[in-house]
Amino acid sequence: MEELIQCIKPYRSILLAGCNECVTVCAAGGRKEVGVLASALKMHFMKEGKPFEIQEVTLERQCDPEYVEQLVSNIDQVDAVLSMACGCGVQEIARRFHNKPVFPALNTKFMGASERQGVWAERCQGCGDCVLGFTAGICPVARCSKQLFNGPCGGSTNGKCEVDPDIDCAWQLIWDRLKALGLTERYEENLPAKDWRPAGGTGPRKIIREDMAS
Ligand code: SF4
Ligand code: SF4
Repeated sequence: MEELIQCIKPYRSILLAGCNECVTVCAAGGRKEVGVLASALKMHFMKEGKPFEIQEVTLERQCDPEYVEQLVSNIDQVDAVLSMACGCGVQEIARRFHNKPVFPALNTKFMGASERQGVWAERCQGCGDCVLGFTAGICPVARCSKQLFNGPCGGSTNGKCEVDPDIDCAWQLIWDRLKALGLTERYEENLPAKDWRPAGGTGPRKIIREDMAS
């Protein structure tokens, strides 16, 4: 809260923008969280005796210009935008409304999956050259602390990673699943040294679908 307040306190009005996609599923930046944060911020400025207006909106997606365009009617009525989308959404708003300050309300962490109620874990780092077909559907890029591609480092204990005992050793998981699938011969196949260029090693990446691009 302190960080958010520091960002927006130079202004008199903001648009607090949520997103109906991933941040809604994660209970971090959907319509409900927009309402909760708006109330908390209003309360803060009311206590300070500072007039402060907060408009609330939740877009279908903030990473899509078609939806970001819907902010046109709101944007001139506010001094700044506080976005509760992931970093992609924040940047899309900044790209569309270049004269309007935009601040992130969230710290975007990773592409993950829900392990159980209230727990999300990293599963993919978008490396651009997926090896899940060789690793029994368990990602060594996102889930091995050392991003090893050809077996474990040798430091795991009782199936846990030596970097952090709260983390399952990815290579233990891979081995267990290969065994369960009757595919242990895959373990003998050496994966070649990874080419990190598709993972962003040569700069920001872009996907262009010629059949869709206008
Ligand atoms: S191998 Fe690459 S693309 Fe596949 S899940 Fe892991 S990080 Fe994602
Ligand atoms: S203990 Fe397992 S998950 Fe941890 S770095 Fe070694 S191989 Fe990777």
